[in-house]
Amino acid sequence: MADRIDSLCMTWRHDYGLHKADDDDSISSGMTTAERESLRRKMTQIHAHHIAPLEERIRELERDKADWLKANAPGGWIDDLRRASQPGSGGALAKALAMYDSMRDGIGGCTDGGCVIKRPTGMRTNGGCKCATDKYKAQRMMYAGQKLADAARASLDGPREG
Ligand SMILES: [Zn+2]
Repeated sequence: MADRIDSLCMTWRHDYGLHKADDDDSISSGMTTAERESLRRKMTQIHAHHIAPLEERIRELERDKADWLKANAPGGWIDDLRRASQPGSGGALAKALAMYDSMRDGIGGCTDGGCVIKRPTGMRTNGGCKCATDKYKAQRMMYAGQKLADAARASLDGPREG
């Protein structure tokens, strides 16, 4: 602080550092102790009223900038929020998966343990799944699979043709 004030004084009076005796009334360079103290008081006021508030404002802006950069950095919370709120977010994928499950339940598998649509949870048979030969069931399952794949792709990279 003292250095800053001295620097301001030096800018105003290049002979600020040059001492002049109180009884020296010549036109030679230099300042008396009283002149020097007077100048220091003025420069201290200018610093306090005009420079210090600007410096504080600069520090505030630098803190804001650091916060902003942290929030917006890849993986930062704004990035997470932005991704989560996009149509192709994890939420959309969960919805697509629920839709796929309900479509699959609607189409319905068979009782075979190796059913290509949905393996039964209760009693199973071993005769072999014939669901793939049912053109109607197979078409609807493939369509459901495509929709699920679209949602999965979108959840990774955002909406895209697929
Ligand atoms: Zn089946």
